[in-house]
Amino acid sequence: MSGGCVFCRIAARESPADIEYEDDDILAFKDLYPKAPIHLLIIPKRHIDSIARLEPGDDALVGRCVRVARLLAERAGYGERGYRLSCNTGPEGGQVVYHLHFHLMAGRRG
Ligand code: AMP
Ligand code: ZN
Repeated sequence: MSGGCVFCRIAARESPADIEYEDDDILAFKDLYPKAPIHLLIIPKRHIDSIARLEPGDDALVGRCVRVARLLAERAGYGERGYRLSCNTGPEGGQVVYHLHFHLMAGRRG
């Protein structure tokens, strides 16, 4: 289904990425074109197009993505200083890669 999906290929280790976190369901890796000193992408390994395609059974997975983001922010020393977690959704939301992902950015104001 997702043979053409770049993030599925990263999750399957068929494409390279600088991986910062992995568990059975979630992967986090450095954004290829970072827009902040810390810029990680947190993804579910299972292909979900976007927030617009989430189903009720995905609630726990999304919650875990948020908690992994917090963990990685804390690990990088931004737990108290703060960070941004964002999820672009759909064409007018700026989504380019249609595999659900959360951007974790820290270290830059604005
Ligand atoms: P979005 O606009 O939310 O869909 O953002 C997609 C993000 O994925 C962008 O910030 C890209 O820099 C990043 N990106 C695209 N391809 C790769 C890749 N192969 N490895 C890491 N990050 C990527
Ligand atoms: Zn995918």
